Amino acid sequence: MKTIGLLGGMTWHSTVDYYRLINHDVQTRLGGSHSASCILLSVEFQEFEDLQTAGDWKRLTELMTDAALKVQTAGADCLVICANTMHKTADALASVLRIPILHIADAAADAITRAGWKTVGLLGTRYTMEMDFYRRRLEDKHGLTVLIPGPKDRDIVHEVIYRELAAGKIVDSSRAEYIRIIEGLRDRGAQGVILGCTEIPLLIKEGDGPLPVFDTTALHAKAAVDFVLA
Ligand code: GLU
Repeated sequence: MKTIGLLGGMTWHSTVDYYRLINHDVQTRLGGSHSASCILLSVEFQEFEDLQTAGDWKRLTELMTDAALKVQTAGADCLVICANTMHKTADALASVLRIPILHIADAAADAITRAGWKTVGLLGTRYTMEMDFYRRRLEDKHGLTVLIPGPKDRDIVHEVIYRELAAGKIVDSSRAEYIRIIEGLRDRGAQGVILGCTEIPLLIKEGDGPLPVFDTTALHAKAAVDFVLA
């Protein structure tokens, strides 16, 4: 079996889910005592959050490059960046790695296309919603139309991620706010919503809101298993 390289800790709450989902999927597919061959490098997230807040993407790219090369050197056959936001550095990493990066936006887009949808809402950090590294890939490479909430609602989505979910807090009133925001995306024409932050699935599950959800943590973990078992 090939080895999955996980670059995690962004945050550790969702990395735990990656590890569990990947091993569960391998065991379900292969049976017996099968499990996934994995290498995990987990970062210190406060340093990353502070650099994101400061807008220091140059330093973040250096840290991600260093971490990704360690995962490659340790013997991984692919790289899984266990977050949506830090895919901002994916092109820079791809230019120095010889192993492929399994891009989280491609995993989401493939599921959306299989479901037959064309117009989707996107919830994530402010960086993922507002910068073009994620939306442009969905739009240009996969032909999707991507809707994001208005500025005030983007602030709410972002703050819930960093103040609550990153600290492991699940708050009912925040779930209600997310559902209200998803209803707004539906009213503007979204047929589904991308949970484009790997912690959002801790708060929002399929059936909580009015739209089908695309859980990027689960879809990315499945893409990793597809890759190593292919
Ligand atoms: N896990 C998050 C994501 O998927 C947010 C934390 C981060 O900034 O990496 O975007």
